[in-house]
Amino acid sequence: MSQPTFQHALSRLIEIPSVSSTLPDLDMSNLPVINELAVWFEAMGFQCEIQPLPDTPHKANLIATLGSGPGGLVFAGHTDTVPYDESLWKSSPFALEERNNRFYGLGVCDMKGFFALVMEAVREFLPTPLKAPLIILATADEESSMNGARALAELGRPKARYAVIGEPTGMRPIHMHKGIMMERIRILGQSGHSSNPSLGRNAMETAHKVITDLMQFRAGMAERYQNPGFTIPVPTLNLGCIHGGDNPNRICGQCQLDFDIRTLPGMESEQLRQQIRQRLKPIAEADQVEITLESITPAIEAFSSKENSELVVACEKLTGHQAESVAFATEAPFFSQLGMDTVVLGPGDIDQAHQPDEYLSLDRINPMVNILKSLIRQYCL
Ligand SMILES: [Zn+2]
Repeated sequence: MSQPTFQHALSRLIEIPSVSSTLPDLDMSNLPVINELAVWFEAMGFQCEIQPLPDTPHKANLIATLGSGPGGLVFAGHTDTVPYDESLWKSSPFALEERNNRFYGLGVCDMKGFFALVMEAVREFLPTPLKAPLIILATADEESSMNGARALAELGRPKARYAVIGEPTGMRPIHMHKGIMMERIRILGQSGHSSNPSLGRNAMETAHKVITDLMQFRAGMAERYQNPGFTIPVPTLNLGCIHGGDNPNRICGQCQLDFDIRTLPGMESEQLRQQIRQRLKPIAEADQVEITLESITPAIEAFSSKENSELVVACEKLTGHQAESVAFATEAPFFSQLGMDTVVLGPGDIDQAHQPDEYLSLDRINPMVNILKSLIRQYCL
C-alpha cells in the first residue's frame, strides 16, 4: 500500500472509533487504529511491532522504528479518545470536517491528529539513512488507565534518548506536570443501638479523626514541598466524597472516604501511601476499628523533564516559548522512567480537548510539522 496523503491519513484516523473508558459499555478496542498506523509506517520503511497489552489483548501499543543504533528520538501519542456526546456536535465526531479554517473531529486535537502530522514531517527523511533511530510510539488507554504506557515502562521499551509527546499544548513545550493519586479509606467499626454508645464502635466518629489527620498531613506536605513553576505551587489533597452509616438511631458501622492527592515532582505516591498508613494506625488502635487504605486507580506520578534538559532547550528555541507546567497529567512520567529526556509539545489546544466540536486550527499544522522536522534533523541525522 502506498503512503496516504496528510488529509487522507487524518480523516481515516478520525473515522476509526477508539474510545477508551473505565465504563465497560463505552470502552472500545484501539487495534483498528494501531493496524492502520502500522500499515502506513511499514509502507514508509519503518519496522513495526504491535504489542497487545498483557491483561487486555484487544488493546495494543505500536512501536514503529526507522533506522537503528543507540540514542534516537521518539514521537509519542495515544490512539484512544474520550467518549463523546454526539448530539452536542455540529458534525459527526467521526467524519473529518473542514470549516472556519479548522479541522473538526473526535481526536483531531487530543490526539490522533498528531500521527498525521508526524507522517507529514517524516516523509522528506525517508531516502536518507538516519544516524540515530526515529521511533513512533502509539499507545493504548491513555484516557482511561494509562495501561499502554504502563506496559511499555514494564517492558523497558522503547529505549531512546529523547521523547516528544504530541498532546495538545498549544505548541508550547511542557516540562512539568503534577501527579495524581486517587485513594480510598475504609473504616470498619461496629453498628449497634444508638441509645448506648458502648454497644458499637462508630466509624463516622473515626472518620472525623481521619479527616482531621488528613488535613494536618496536607498542611505538612505543603510545608515540605513547594514548586513555584506551578499555578498551585503546593501539593493538594481534596476530600472528594464520603459514605457511611444508614440511620440516625444506629451506630455507624462503616464509613468510606475518597480523596485525591496532586503530587509535585520529587514526591512518590507509594511513599505517601506508607506515610498515610502509618498515621492511620494509632487512630485505628485508639478507636478499635479497622482502617484500610487502597488506591481507586493506579497513581500517575508527577513529571519533570531532566535537569538542564537538552530537549527542553531545543524545543524552547524552536517554538519561541519558555517551557511551562500544565495542570493535566500525561504519559510523560512513564517515558521519563525509561530514561528518556521527555517533553510534551503538540499542535492542539487543551481547551478543545474532551469537548464537543473538538478542532485543530489549520494554521497550527505547518509550524508543528516544521518543529518535528527540525527535531529529526537535530537528533537523527
Ligand atoms: Zn490526550
